Amino acid sequence: MNLELDAADRDFQAEVRAFIDAHWPDAARAQARDTVAREGRPSVVERAWFDALVARGWSVPHWPAAHGGANWSPTQHYIWARETAHADCPEMSPFGSRMLAPVLYTWGSPAQQAAHLPPIREARITWCQGYSEPGAGSDLASLTTRAVRDGDHYVVNGAKTWTSGAHHADWMFCLVRTDPHARKKQEGISFLLIDMRSPGIEIRPILILGEQHTVNGVTLNDVRVPLANRVGEENRGWTYAKGLLTHERTGIAGVARSQVALRRLRYLALANGLDDDDVFATKLDELEIELLALEMTELRTLATVEGGGAPGPESSILKIKGTEIAQRIDDLVIEALGYYALPYPAPQLIDNEGPIGPMNAVPAIRGMLYGRAASIFGGSNEIQKNIIAKAVLGL
Ligand SMILES: Cc1cc2nc3c(=O)[nH]c(=O)nc-3n(C[C@H](O)[C@H](O)[C@H](O)COP(=O)(O)OP(=O)(O)OC[C@H]3O[C@@H](n4cnc5c(N)ncnc54)[C@H](O)[C@@H]3O)c2cc1C
Repeated sequence: MNLELDAADRDFQAEVRAFIDAHWPDAARAQARDTVAREGRPSVVERAWFDALVARGWSVPHWPAAHGGANWSPTQHYIWARETAHADCPEMSPFGSRMLAPVLYTWGSPAQQAAHLPPIREARITWCQGYSEPGAGSDLASLTTRAVRDGDHYVVNGAKTWTSGAHHADWMFCLVRTDPHARKKQEGISFLLIDMRSPGIEIRPILILGEQHTVNGVTLNDVRVPLANRVGEENRGWTYAKGLLTHERTGIAGVARSQVALRRLRYLALANGLDDDDVFATKLDELEIELLALEMTELRTLATVEGGGAPGPESSILKIKGTEIAQRIDDLVIEALGYYALPYPAPQLIDNEGPIGPMNAVPAIRGMLYGRAASIFGGSNEIQKNIIAKAVLGL
């Protein structure tokens, strides 16, 4: 695959850089660099960034042009991902823009598309994902949250768990069981869109490593959901749910983010006197090579998606390698920081100067702890290996 940019691509790159310089100020970049996981409503500067993207038609470039996508080539997407990662530009919440949207524009009704795609495109509505349950994680098709018809509504009862951002979300896309007697458990599932303001929804925080509140338990007690909020056919939800997961996994790979992180790690190692350390240098070089190989896989996937396809089982390869590489970078950042990587808030007490000071250490340890989850969510890496064995290797 040819990665040399031609003249038109270089013009596009210059246009992207000028756009970022105009709409994403330096102060915001510095703050974004120290933020581990962006959550909740956009801040004022983030809002301005999203508004600028919407005005330019670049807020959801990966969508089909008919729904507001930018009609870019794979190379343009590649350039956009690298330039925005380099400048720490805020990304839209993936739940709406990368996960639900492809389901809606592929299987949603015209009314659902008209109601939900524009607010996602404009980053005005936040979604969360109601897939996992206390008894259904890797074996997701065992889910038991029940939806029973009552006139023109479903009445939903059950419990979801690990629901990221439910405490900020306006809506949840949710898998429910509509036919408990189906021949196969995958065949009795439907895909519902649930307004989080509906009576009967309770949200309980779950603290993850580092005591961060990003995930929740969500209980649904007699929640009434209009039949019109079911995506596609009743009992066919598993098909839509799986389609969504391939997009989710492709997004988790985070190649551009890892490239930026690796570059920063090299500076950190230099500043911390590790430039003479052959063992450390070898670890960095190995990562660099693996990241380059992953980048090729990502580009091939992008090319498929741009050609009108959806990411297939290769999204599982991207997810495994992408999260493994990101976690190894996190580990090496901690190694390079040495004792500055003591659990926060201890580093704040240490007076230091240069790039390994406290302000680098605090997000580093938080990032490392948060990053552990990436090999679990979106389907654990062990499950991705099962998928590759079946769907890619035919075992
Ligand atoms: C931070 C975080 C955020 C999350 N956000 C969301 C969210 O927003 N929405 C949502 O719906 N879910 C979310 N999840 C849930 C996530 O998708 C599940 O945790 C994941 O699918 C694993 O399910 P489980 O936790 O029930 O573990 P289990 O399924 O119980 O698995 C336990 C272990 O056994 C292994 N295992 C299980 N089955 C097999 C098998 N067949 N072969 C080999 N190994 C196996 C797993 O890999 C894992 O290591 C989130 C999870 C985390 C940690």
